[in-house]
Parts: sequence; C-alpha cells; structure tokens
Amino acid sequence: MANPVVAFVGRPNVGKSTIFNRIAGERISIVEDTPGVTRDRIYAHSEWLGQNFDIIDTGGIEISDEPLITQITEQAKIAIDEADVIVVITSVQEGVTDADEQVAQILYKSNKPVILAVNKVDNPEARAEIFDFYSLGLGDPVAVSGTHGIGTGDLLDKICQAFPENTANEEDSSIKFSFIGRPNVGKSSLVNAILGENRVIVSGIEGTTRDAIDTKFVAENNTEYTMIDTAGIRKRGKVYENTEKYSVLRAMRAIDRSDVVCVVLNAEEGIREQDKHVAGYAHEAGRGVIIVVNKWDTLKKSNHTLQQFEALIRAEFQYLSYAPIVFVSAKTHQRLSSLPDLVQRVYHNHEQRISSSVLNDVLMDAIAHNPTPTENGKRLRVYYGTQVAIKPPTFVVFVNDPDLMHFSYERFLENQIREAFDFTGTPIRIIERRRK
Ligand code: GDP
Ligand code: GDP
Repeated sequence: MANPVVAFVGRPNVGKSTIFNRIAGERISIVEDTPGVTRDRIYAHSEWLGQNFDIIDTGGIEISDEPLITQITEQAKIAIDEADVIVVITSVQEGVTDADEQVAQILYKSNKPVILAVNKVDNPEARAEIFDFYSLGLGDPVAVSGTHGIGTGDLLDKICQAFPENTANEEDSSIKFSFIGRPNVGKSSLVNAILGENRVIVSGIEGTTRDAIDTKFVAENNTEYTMIDTAGIRKRGKVYENTEKYSVLRAMRAIDRSDVVCVVLNAEEGIREQDKHVAGYAHEAGRGVIIVVNKWDTLKKSNHTLQQFEALIRAEFQYLSYAPIVFVSAKTHQRLSSLPDLVQRVYHNHEQRISSSVLNDVLMDAIAHNPTPTENGKRLRVYYGTQVAIKPPTFVVFVNDPDLMHFSYERFLENQIREAFDFTGTPIRIIERRRK
C-alpha cells in the first residue's frame, strides 16, 4: 500500500532541508557503506504516531539555469504532481517575500491541502511576527524552529490530519512491478514490448495524478499485473522532468509502490556507476528484485558470454546475490515472455511465510552441522527462530547474546534458509533478540 506523500516547498535558505532531516530522522543504511552508493536526501520515509508517510524536499531538485522564480514555480508543480499534502516553508527572519506569494498563488489552484509553516521561530519574541504570514492566504501558520526542533510535533499533527482518507483501491490483488534503471537502458522499450505481448486492461477508474500512468494487464499465465510508471517512460515534457534528481525521485517512488523491481542493465554498455545507485535503492527498499539485462541482441556471443556477464554482475552487485538475472531483448522479444512468470515467482517468495516448526528444523539442522561461534570462551546459543514479517520475509532468532552472532554466521543461517525454501528474488532479514 502506497504511503501518503508530503512535499516541502519554499525558497532557498528558509530551512527546508533542516526540517526535512529532522522529520526523516536518522536511518541506518546498509547500502550507504557500499562505495559508489549515496543516499539522496530529497526523499525519505517517516512516521508520526503510527502513521507512515513519505517526504520530498523539492528544494533538493535543482533546476539549473533558470531564474529563482522559475525554479520555485517548478518545485511547487512537482509538489502538486507528487504529493498528497504540501507544506510551504517560509522564514520569520525574512518575512513574507514575493517568492512566497508566488508559491502561494500556484498552490491555491492545486486542490491539495496546503500547510503553512513559518520557520526560524527560535524564541517566544519571534512568535509575534508570524501573524504577518496570514496575508499569504494559506490559513493558520505553524511556528517552527528546524534547528531547535520546536513546533515540529504540531506541524506533524497538522500534516497527518490533512492526509486523504484511505481511498486506495482496495482488493487490488494485481502484482505491482516496475522497470528502473538509468536513461537509455531500454525501460520504455521493455514496457511497450511487454504490454504488446499481453492483454492490457483499460481501467475506467480515475487514479490520482501520480498513479494515473500505471498500466494493468493480464499475462498468458492468467495473472493480473500492474506496471508502475517510472521516470522517462512517458515524458510529459515539463522543465523539471529532465533533471537527474527528479528521475531519482520517480525511481524511488516507483520502487516503493512495487512488489517486485526489475533493475534494467544495458548489455551493450556494460555496468556503470549509476546502475549501482539504482540497484542500491531497490535493495534498500526491501522489495523483490530481478536483474534484467536488456539489449542482449547487440552482443556477439560466444559460449561464455552469458556466464561472464553473470559473473560480472555478481561481483558488482554483491548485496543483490538473491536476485535472479535474465538476459532479454526488448527489440527481438527474446525471453521476454518468461518475465511475467519470474515476477510472479519472486512476488510469491517475497510474501512467503514459513511455519515456525519447519523453520526450526532447518535452523537446528544447520547448527548441528556447523556449530555456533564462540568469543572469549562464550558460545552463541540459538534457541528458537520465528518469522515475524513478510515483504520482505523477516526472521527473529532468539539467542543468549546477540553480540556473539557474527556476520558470517548470520550469513550461514541465511544461506541455509535459502537452501531449504525458495526465496529467489527476495531479500530476507534476520534479527537477533536476547531471550529473557
Ligand atoms: P533550505 O535551503 O530551505 O533547504 O534551507 P536549509 O535547511 O539549508 O537552511 C538554511 C539555513 O538556515 C541554514 O544555515 C540553517 O542552519 C538555517 N536554519 C534552518 N532552520 C533554522 C531555524 O529554525 N532557526 C534558525 N535560526 N536558523 C535555521
Ligand atoms: P529508457 O530511457 O530506459 O526508457 O530507454 P528506451 O526504451 O527509450 O531505449 C533507448 C534506446 O535503446 C532506444 O533507441 C531503443 O530503441 C533502444 N533499445 C531498447 N531496447 C533495445 C534492445 O533490446 N535492443 C536494441 N538493439 N536496442 C534497444
């Protein structure tokens, strides 16, 4: 289920990223430690009193070579296109500016809930000045101080109240998947080729703006799929749509809304740095992942071409060792018809539940064959394991001391679980808990 989305807009220096970071909180990233993979701070997940939502800092999407006012206008349009709730951030230090008024003008027409925040209200005296901001016509201003963390709770309360009622099309049991990858790897060609081969369902239901370009189809295996839109698939020609950060944002949104993500590589060009960023996002989101090597028709092949390419991928994307690899061509349609079945298999694995008794048989067998490690004479004891979540499958193992669980032993347990059950295409998570 897609989370509601909140976008922050406002002119430079009002404190958008300060507030964004505060609301995003600190998240530990596995992939961040992988060289070449960086976390883009324009999009993050957040949670307030049990409500999950996603946040976008539109100020982080640089629209270069345009005057400030155009940039801000474009950012406001991104917010309108992508978000359910828009937060306009202003600053009490500068007061109401022309740019603030410009943003307000655009947002009046958006039909989206808009919340006005006045930042840098660091002390009680500054509070008196927030009343000037009523002139923007955006309702009651919320006083906040991003650096001091004042007022963010009130702002979050207001944001959560403004979320639309849960209008998600319930009972949509279709498998949601997407193609992501850098420009020109062949994402749109793959989309078109797949839709050409399968029966497209023309849906009469109006989606929200950002969901409107998803396409539903029924494949030969009689399963319903929803192909999630990604950057570059249908270019709408707006100024901001050609910016790098916006395409990253679209990719991350698509990943979040997918059950299974197909990371597309270009056989003709090999693996590039940007491919690793894209793959890193997919892995971190905990979705099912398939690596699709497109343009396979362009290579002169020998007996070893496929194995060599596969070895290269395994070396470059070590954290995706669970992802199956398919070599396809959107041009000749080679192996394309096998893709829906593979997506379905990965989807099932991603939502697979293993009963505790079967799981514990596997764990105890594993431990019998490869005794647990010791440290300073103390041996790790594994008492019991249980699956606590799906999408991705997440296991808790109860142990005497979580510090005694080495990475390599956890890896070993994961591999044993993978050998016993089909978890192809899905990450699995193992969490150690101390048994009381
Ligand atoms: P953005 O360009 O809108 O993303 O703004 P930043 O978050 O980068 O902040 C711009 C400047 O304002 C930085 O120097 C921040 O430290 C400062 N700033 C942000 N929030 C506050 C605040 O609540 N009070 C004060 N006094 N300064 C702030
Ligand atoms: P996107 O930017 O990832 O959506 O890439 P496109 O689908 O627009 O494709 C980029 C270019 O690669 C286009 O000229 C396509 O015709 C070409 N292309 C896409 N798939 C294949 C393929 O399987 N084989 C060959 N030879 N060319 C392809």
